[in-house]
This record gives sequence, C-alpha cells and structure tokens, in this order.
Amino acid sequence: MTELPPHFAVAPFSDEDTVLPIAPPGEGQTADALRLMGQIVQQLPIGVAVIDYEGVFRSVNPSYCQMYDYRQEELLGQSFTMVFPVHQRERLMALHREYVDDRRRDLSGEWEVLRRDGAPLNVIARSVKVPGAEGRWSRLVYVVDITDRRRIEAELQASQRFTRSVLDGMSAHVCVIDATGVIVTVNRAWLDFAASDGGSLDDLREGANYLGACEVAASMSTPDAKEAVQFLALLRELLAGHRTCFELEYPSHSPSEQRWFMVRASHIEASDPPRYVIERDNVTALELAQQALVMQATTDELTGVANRRAFFQALGVEFAKLRRHPDSPCSVMALDLDHFKNVNDTWGHAAGDAVLKHFTRVISGHTREGDVLGRTGGEEFTMILPDTALDEAEALGERLRQQVSLAPLQFDGHTISITVSIGVAMLTASDTNAAEAVARADRALYEAKHAGRNTVRRWSTSAD
Ligand code: GH3
Ligand code: MG
Ligand code: MG
Repeated sequence: MTELPPHFAVAPFSDEDTVLPIAPPGEGQTADALRLMGQIVQQLPIGVAVIDYEGVFRSVNPSYCQMYDYRQEELLGQSFTMVFPVHQRERLMALHREYVDDRRRDLSGEWEVLRRDGAPLNVIARSVKVPGAEGRWSRLVYVVDITDRRRIEAELQASQRFTRSVLDGMSAHVCVIDATGVIVTVNRAWLDFAASDGGSLDDLREGANYLGACEVAASMSTPDAKEAVQFLALLRELLAGHRTCFELEYPSHSPSEQRWFMVRASHIEASDPPRYVIERDNVTALELAQQALVMQATTDELTGVANRRAFFQALGVEFAKLRRHPDSPCSVMALDLDHFKNVNDTWGHAAGDAVLKHFTRVISGHTREGDVLGRTGGEEFTMILPDTALDEAEALGERLRQQVSLAPLQFDGHTISITVSIGVAMLTASDTNAAEAVARADRALYEAKHAGRNTVRRWSTSAD
C-alpha cells in the first residue's frame, strides 16, 4: 500500500473537485506539518477510512472504529462492504469500483449501515480519490453519524403528524397566525367552513393575511360588520401585545340558517417568533338553547306574552327611564276578562285557554312597538305604554275594549263572545316604585268592573 501523506483528510474539497491535490513534503509543507496533520486525523470526531482499489480497508481512524464498534485490526484488510447489510454489499462494491475506475464522479450521500451488533446507523459519507498502489485510485471516505439527528427528525415529524391529526380532528375552526396576521397554518374544519361559506378561500388559506381579511370584513356594511369591527380591534390589541387572549360571540347568519359563533384568540405561550391561535366554534345549538331558556323564564307558556316576572322587570326599566326623563309620559293599563269563570264553566277549561290565547292575539294586534303586554294573573293582563299620556292610554283602552267585544272566538263549533274591563293610570317619577302605578291601574279597573264591566276607566283620586 502506498504511504499516504496524512494531510489529505483535512484538505478542503468540494463536490466539483473530488480529487484531492496532494502536496508531497517539500512542496510548501514541511514533514512536521504533515505529521501534525496525521495526528489531527487520528483525533478527528469524524470517521475517516482509506479503502483501496479492491475495496479493502487500508486505514481507519479511531472515530471510524468507534462508530461501527470494531477494533482497528478487525477492519483493516477486510472489505469495506462489511459495514453494509448483506443484500447491499454487491451493489456497494460495484459503486466503489465505478468510482475508483473514474466511471463515477461522486460517491457522497446518506447511507444506512450496520454497527458490529447489527444496530442500524444513518451516516453521511463523502468520498475523495487518493492515489493508491500500482497507479490506481484508492478512496478516502469520511463519515458522520447522523442517526440521532434522523431519530429526532423522525420524532419531530411524528409529533407534527400527531399535532396535525389532532388539529384536523377538531370540530372547531382553527387558524394560527403570525404577528403580522399572516396565516401560518389552518385545520381542516377551518378550510371546510371557508369553502362552504361562499367567501374567497384564498383569503383564508396558509400564507394569506387574515388581519387583512378582517379589515375588509370590518369595512363592509353587512349586518355582521359591528362584530367584525369589534373583532378587528381586539385582534389588533392581541397582535400588539396589549392582551394575551380574547373571546367574542357573534351572530353570522347565512341566507339559509341562523348561526352564532364563539371565537377565541390567544397568544401561543412561548412561541418564538410569536404565534396566535384563533379558534372558532359554531355555538348555534348552545345559543338557541340559551334563547329557549330565556324564553321559558320570561314568557307565559299559554299565551306567549311576557310572564309576571318579565313584565315587572320591563316595568322597572321603564320606571328608571322615567326618572331620568320625567317629561316623557308612560302609562300602565290593567285588563281583566269579564265573567271569565263563566267561559270555563260553560265551555270547559280548554275553551277558557283558547279564549286567553285569542284575547292576547287581539290585544297584540293593536299595540305599538315598545308596548309590553304581560300576563300578571290568571285572566289578568297588564300593559306598559311608553311615551303615552293618560288620555291616549284611555283612548287606546277604549279601542281595545271594542276590538275584544267585536271579535268573538270560534271554538269547537261555538261562538264565544268576550268582553274586557280596563283601567289605566300614569307611571309617575314621584312613585316610590313602579308597582304603585299598577296598583292605581288596578283600582281604575275595579271601578270599571263596578260600572258594569266591558268598560274603560282612568285612575283619578276619587278611585282611591
Ligand atoms: P270578573 O268579571 O269579576 O273578572 O269575573 P271572572 O269570572 O272573570 O273572575 P274570577 O276571578 O271570578 O274568575 C277568574 C277565572 O279565571 C277563575 C279561574 O279558574 C280562571 N282561570 C285562571 N287562569 C286560567 C287559565 O290559565 N286557564 C283557564 N281556562 N282558566 C283560568
Ligand atoms: Mg275576570
Ligand atoms: Mg280577575
């Protein structure tokens, strides 16, 4: 075997120039310098081996031996293919031959090799030609073990796949953006929703600027623009670092269905560069359930008008308004069906129920927006008439009385005529509470009953 000048192993090379210029002693390099190079090669953390034309190990450094877990003498004199799986050895030898025969320029690349115990290693090997015996090339190879790197990469990939499948498995629409609002990633639900919602999908994909899309939405004059403006302001605060998260529920009704969404946006802790996650859930079912609950708690089941509790709550609001603006009048009307007990007694309870429903329909047909009709007793109703002076309230009462008497109910083949007695009173800022006005209206109603029913009376001091 040719004596190899030891400096070649650390001589620079490039892919273009795989043949190393070997400078013999005396041509710019002293024997001492070359010896030093040889020592360096021995201590390199990179595996270095010289493989002769026949493919036999001629020289290996300690790192090379350590990497494969062989002793130097176990490798020297053996075919270099011994570190490859059996089924690849023939191919590897052929490649080696092509290389040293100058039929192949490059033999660098990644390989899977085997340690002595059979454990697989991932290595990057680079080859250069060096002069060998009988004027033929030998191959100098240096090898770096990248097994750990590959394992970490594989783990990372697995973890990314896991994260991706978790994200894609979520029903919430998820989008991650950077500090400038550019979309870094989205999940499947996000894309599916964007596609189904009829907007431009390209504005909501990876790489699009979400902040920009929000700015456009906020500048539109759609019914949802109010929420879009609010969302944009919050999002800007989040991206500026003035808040770490926010939540917003908003309606976004499509032409075919009513929808509500809950959107949560938050800074992803310890993200560097900063990332923000936007999660949007369709909360329509929850919203509708909530609305149903509120409805149940505030509505009279039979007639659908405000129940007693909701009525007095609304009255409290009107009373507070009146105290702030004592000049705008507000009246209260008490209505009680006449001889209603007779309806039940004559036609049955179901007929009585039907009359109550019919009665509220008639009344509701003659009220204005803002008026609140409440069922405050069995066949007793009370109405708030904002911006209505006592004269107007009395006139309205008269109209209602007439309408009721003129609209008998057809029930089960029978005609059930009904009449109502009505009392009206003013809500006044000097009352200690709103219920006082209802009490006055009730006293006027009592007068109406006394006067023969089917009558309207206004409250006056004489009623007390
Ligand atoms: P008045 O002219 O003095 O008001 O006589 P009235 O019969 O209307 O009054 P009264 O207070 O004597 O009777 C009211 C009746 O209303 C008694 C009760 O059974 C009936 N009632 C109360 N709530 C309901 C209901 O939800 N459904 C039905 N069908 N009847 C009801
Ligand atoms: Mg009655
Ligand atoms: Mg009554």
